[in-house]
Amino acid sequence: MDAAPTSFTELPSDPELFVPVPFVAGTDLGYGDRPEGAALSARELDKRRVTQCALSRICGVCGSGLGRPLAFVGSKLELDRMAFHFPPSHVECAEALLRAYADVAEPVLGVDAAPADWVLVTTASFEFVRANREDLDRRPTFQPNGLLSETHTR
Ligand SMILES: [Zn+2]
Repeated sequence: MDAAPTSFTELPSDPELFVPVPFVAGTDLGYGDRPEGAALSARELDKRRVTQCALSRICGVCGSGLGRPLAFVGSKLELDRMAFHFPPSHVECAEALLRAYADVAEPVLGVDAAPADWVLVTTASFEFVRANREDLDRRPTFQPNGLLSETHTR
């Protein structure tokens, strides 16, 4: 269904934000939330790729298979709820993503805070939880089964 995974340095670039677009957001195909041929965007996640990352256990940043530990990036609110929207990634990929997004001053990648306020946590496993019919936020979440480490960007 999707192209081969790419390394972080080979990721395509967002034409407005000038940051690399991770695998889970990076599609210009006629599916997900974007019309066919739309420019790649780091503003939102592609719903189908979120599910693909969850079910295939592939990295949300580079798209290749995951080992352990797993890294999650997200806001402090997501951490408080232990429910992240950005799929699990390699620790190195998550760190590279945070470095690349350090100067982005608006919420991106489906996270409800700008990257300067994100956290990076590691875990050994997670549950993929789909929204209930009555939930206001209908997006699925990734819920770590305990944390191995927690890093705040500030
Ligand atoms: Zn990766």
